[in-house]
Amino acid sequence: ATALGIAETEIIKKLFFKGMAVSITQTLDIPTASLVAEELGVTVQTTEEAPAATKVTVMVGEEDIENLQRRPPVVTIMGHVDHGKTTLLDAIRETKVAQGEAGGITQHIGAYHVDVDHDGQTQQVVFLDTPGHEAFTAMRARGARVTDIAILVVAADDGVQPQTVEAISHAKAAEVPIVVAINKIDKPGAQPDRVKQELTDRGLQPEEWGGDTIMVPVSAIQKENLDTLLEMILLVAEVEDLHANPDRPARGTVIEANLDKTRGPVATLLVQNGTLRVGDTLVAGSVFCKVRAMIDDRGARVEAAGPSFAVEVLGLNEVPAAGDEFEVFESEKEARSTANKRADEQRQSRLQQVMASRRVTLNSLSAQAQEGELKELNLILKADVQGSVEAILGALKQLPQNEVQIRVLLGGAGEVTETDVDLAAASGAVIIGFNTTLAHGSRQAADREGVDIREYNIIYKLLDDIQAAMEGLLEPEM
Ligand code: GDP
Repeated sequence: ATALGIAETEIIKKLFFKGMAVSITQTLDIPTASLVAEELGVTVQTTEEAPAATKVTVMVGEEDIENLQRRPPVVTIMGHVDHGKTTLLDAIRETKVAQGEAGGITQHIGAYHVDVDHDGQTQQVVFLDTPGHEAFTAMRARGARVTDIAILVVAADDGVQPQTVEAISHAKAAEVPIVVAINKIDKPGAQPDRVKQELTDRGLQPEEWGGDTIMVPVSAIQKENLDTLLEMILLVAEVEDLHANPDRPARGTVIEANLDKTRGPVATLLVQNGTLRVGDTLVAGSVFCKVRAMIDDRGARVEAAGPSFAVEVLGLNEVPAAGDEFEVFESEKEARSTANKRADEQRQSRLQQVMASRRVTLNSLSAQAQEGELKELNLILKADVQGSVEAILGALKQLPQNEVQIRVLLGGAGEVTETDVDLAAASGAVIIGFNTTLAHGSRQAADREGVDIREYNIIYKLLDDIQAAMEGLLEPEM
């Protein structure tokens, strides 16, 4: 590929379309290599020694190179609502998992794995069955890449719909290869060719039309063609050349987490590198965990989970968030301090968010009044002398209040103090200072707590602003 100046995957694709399934680590014999090269107008000359094949690593560091092993692909199902995502997931699970399992009992942990016969070998595919989309996008927003391949389900009787387009964009943005499952082909109204055309218009051209997207017609209801779909996933997985190092402490991503009434905090962890073991100490997001037990998707207790496997983990001290990354620590002490530090940081930023969201200004109240959402305007009034307070209260009463009511929570003579700021913050009030000053520290407190202090020394200006705010007409401050 280097000599030809093209991507390795191009070669694999070319061979794939000739019916040869090769992986990126495989060495091609000379006739095969010549075949590809000649298609590109290059003649191959043989020398004494063939160069060694190179390995491509995904999601692993330098230290792993010696110990890399192939890992199963992690697959997410995406697509428009009602196109059959859930039915397809269940169908694959039923046909594959139930076979040979004791009673076929399955447990919902947010992911499951199936065995697929491929090239005379049994290989595994891991499906994430957290409600497809949201999990995928939420995790992506947090920068976690958990999916190797996306199955895009498109109903043959409905075609490309808004969420189909959205799914394509997400997968492309994440550089996740797409395999299309054209579903519901059992339906009388099914038009698989129309779907192919619509997808071509969206940049996904089926291979049989000269493109490079694999599209498999299936019926999730009748469990038709699911084996082909799974085989295609494994073919794409080979091209992707997925590796990990099972001989290192685990790291990966939280797929699901919740508080179980009897078992306490539980989380499903997807191991993306290394091997996770009972007794390991880990930090997931800001949560500390000494792994007490692990349960797989068949409800069985397991001692270890290698790359690409998802297990439900017990022993967390709190509930982490889906999309949080986890990492095993050698030292329990270090794990605890890391978890504590992150928890502190999170609290801090949450506090800031709360503050920011509570920020009430006369301008924001004016905007609310414009939307018709403002019913009450809370004010705290401080003026130089009691006489001014009375005068202003009297004038405020004269303002028309059929839409918005003015409530003066506190009116008094004196400086604007920190206590006033606290009251304003707690009640979403704006502070009006008339001919008065700010006590030491109240400006800082107001900034910290997001309180608006407006200062006036002319009554009619004060009244104008209040009235404008009530009518939603206050000009934004410069
Ligand atoms: P989701 O919203 O994408 O998860 O879609 P569902 O899996 O809930 O399926 C929506 C509807 O389509 C349900 O009534 C399914 O029974 C039906 N459905 C799913 N797959 C097929 C199929 O292959 N053929 C037919 N005829 N109906 C299907």
